[in-house]
Formats: sequence, C-alpha cells, structure tokens
Amino acid sequence: MAYHWPADTVFQELTLEVEDATCWQCAQPLTICCHRRRRFFTCQGPVQLLSKLSHCSNPACPAHATTLTPEAETALVMPYWVLAWDVFCWLGHRRFARHWSVPQIRDELADRFALPLSADAIERYVGRYQRMVAARHQDPGEVAAAYRRAKGLVLAIDGLQPEKGHETLYVVREVGRKRVWFAEALLSSNAAEVQRLLARARAWVERLGLPVRCWLSDKQDAFVTGVAAEFPGVPHRYCANHFLRDLAKPVLEADSQAKVAMRKKVRGLRDIERQVLAEQAAAPADAAAGSDVVLDYCSAVRGILNDDQGGPLQPPGERMAEALTEVRQSLQRGLGAKKGGPRRSG
Ligand SMILES: [Zn+2]
Repeated sequence: MAYHWPADTVFQELTLEVEDATCWQCAQPLTICCHRRRRFFTCQGPVQLLSKLSHCSNPACPAHATTLTPEAETALVMPYWVLAWDVFCWLGHRRFARHWSVPQIRDELADRFALPLSADAIERYVGRYQRMVAARHQDPGEVAAAYRRAKGLVLAIDGLQPEKGHETLYVVREVGRKRVWFAEALLSSNAAEVQRLLARARAWVERLGLPVRCWLSDKQDAFVTGVAAEFPGVPHRYCANHFLRDLAKPVLEADSQAKVAMRKKVRGLRDIERQVLAEQAAAPADAAAGSDVVLDYCSAVRGILNDDQGGPLQPPGERMAEALTEVRQSLQRGLGAKKGGPRRSG
C-alpha cells in the first residue's frame, strides 16, 4: 500500500544519475530516457528522489532496450520501500538487539525522527529485516567464514512451542560457534518430518566438510531415530539444559520436603520473643543488652526460615540448612565464651 504523505511534508531533494557514461556492450554514450520520482524516509528526514534512467543511444545495440537505474538508489532504499536503509537498520536493531516492542518503536520513530508509521507497517518492515538477517546467517559464504578455523561440530536440535496449541518450532544449532543454523515450524512433528530437518543439517555439514563430534537433544524418539539414520555412528547425548530441567523437579520436591522438616524442628521463636519482651518490660535497665541479642537471633532465624530464594542449582532448603548451621555455630561460640575465657567483642 502506498504511503500517504501529509500535504505539508518538507522534502529534501536528491537527484541521481546512472553512474556509467557509456554502454557496457557497444561503448556508445548512454542517454537519459525517463525520470522516476519517489519519496522515502531517512534518519535525516523525508527525501524526494529524482532518478534519471538511461539506456544505450545506439538503436542497433542489443542493450538499447534495457533501462538502467542509478546503482546509488538501491544503496539508499529498496524498490517500493518507504523507509531508507538507515531507518530500516535502526528499526531492526531496536527490535532485535534492544527487544523494543512495536508500539515503543512507533513512538520513538514519531518523537525522534518525526516519522509517523503505523504498527502494521512497522511489523512488515520487522518481518523483512528478520528475513534478511536469516538469509545472511544462512549464506554459505558467511557460514564457511564462521567455521574457517573450526575443527569439529557439536549440533543440537530442539523443539520449542511458543504457546500451547501452536506449531512447534524446530531449531538446529551448532553449539561450538553458538550459531542457529536454521529453524522451521512443523505442523506435525512425526519422525519423517524431523528427519527431513536432520537431512538438511547433514547437507550443511557436508558443505562445511567438518566432522560432527556429537548431537545434543532432549532425546525424544523422533530425534533419536533421525540422528541415528542421518548421522550413523555420531554420539547423541542429553543436552545439559534438558538434563538439568528433568532433574530439577525431583530435586526441588525433595528440597521442599527438607525445608518442611527443618521448619518443624526450629520453632517457638514467638514464645522466646514474648518472654524476652516481658523480661525487658519488668527490668528494662539490666536485661536490655543481653535480651536484644536474643531478639536479633530470633529475627535472623525467622528471615532464614522465610527465605525462598534459589533454584535447582542452589536449592532453598540447602541454603536454609547452611544458614541454620551458621546460627547454631554462632550460638555455640557464644555459650563457650560465657562458660570461660575472656569475652571477645563482636
Ligand atoms: Zn549499446
């Protein structure tokens, strides 16, 4: 859909001509045959471009019928786009490197560049940007350059489901260079479809001419059979992430039981506090110093019992046990100091 330019838009005028002066086939001079006008946004504001198109002046030349466009035009803006490359790159960078949302990009385009663009249009350009990045990422020359010094490959396949009921996005990655090779959404995740992706991975591997050290996955059936068929003899092991994820659940369950047991054992804080406060109220002067320490211990222990921070790699119950042990050791040190020896400060 053509962009509707407000009537009061101020354009910067730009004229481009075909770079060559003579025909590449017959060396006769080129002549201007028509003009093309177009408008687009750059980071410096709206531009109105006049491109002078040329063709060979020699009617007998086979190139006479071909109209030439200034090459500088596509270096500024793609055909039919309303955004020049600079705005396009800015937008793609904000979306994918800074994770800005479309409304955020829309506001910033308006505020910073005085560029009113609809959310639909922004989404369209974001899609184009994505396709360009993917194409560049999969370009055989780019890939070969990235693996020039590699000795071997470690490949991983993973099925991601963005939302329940959505098709699964299968992603093939190479772990050594941390590179996503390709991703494809499969409506059906049957073994034949998955194997097709693995065959595509094999084609990449053959093009690179590097040995595959191993495959990583969550080892669902389709992956196991597919890898065995396409990469016979290549080891296939659990991806550490999946392994941890599968391990995390029973670990956290056991940990939470341990926490319950510890909380049962360490109780009566409130009674102690009540007793101390009662003593302080009865004899404020001499009880205060010692009883404040008791209250401090109580609040520290309460903090430990209520601490739910941590994850499967640092289970909260384990943290709780460590912290309670420290409290006990501290209490024992205190008791030891009271029984005999000089009193240490701190
Ligand atoms: Zn010619």
